[in-house]
Amino acid sequence: MPTQDIQQFRAILPEATSGDDPLLRLQAESEPDDAIRIQTTTHADPIIITGITVMCPKCGARQDWMVICDVPGRVFLRCRCAHQWYEPELTRADFEAMAGEGGQNYPSLEAVALDDGYDGTLAGAYLPDDRVGLS
Ligand SMILES: [Zn+2]
Repeated sequence: MPTQDIQQFRAILPEATSGDDPLLRLQAESEPDDAIRIQTTTHADPIIITGITVMCPKCGARQDWMVICDVPGRVFLRCRCAHQWYEPELTRADFEAMAGEGGQNYPSLEAVALDDGYDGTLAGAYLPDDRVGLS
């Protein structure tokens, strides 16, 4: 019965290709583990990139940074006014050089910002809303 054979084949096909489902891929890429693996350190001295001292565009700070490195290896800088931005010129190697022995692992950016005194208005933009009432 050739007709029945074809129908069975079609019924199986969607399962066989489910590995390409964009939704399933998205779920795999957004594992909660990755979201909280953040390393930070503090850097009291100025940070100089290609001969130019990094300056906060909001408050003009040139030192006393919080340096954040996320899982893909992106480095973010954050000043005492809690302005934070992605600094593409810095790499994980730069972060590790700055972290040295002072590097610490925290479960979340919120934890380290509170602990090190970099808590500010921008912190809420990165974190769940459950702490809004406390700040
Ligand atoms: Zn600032």
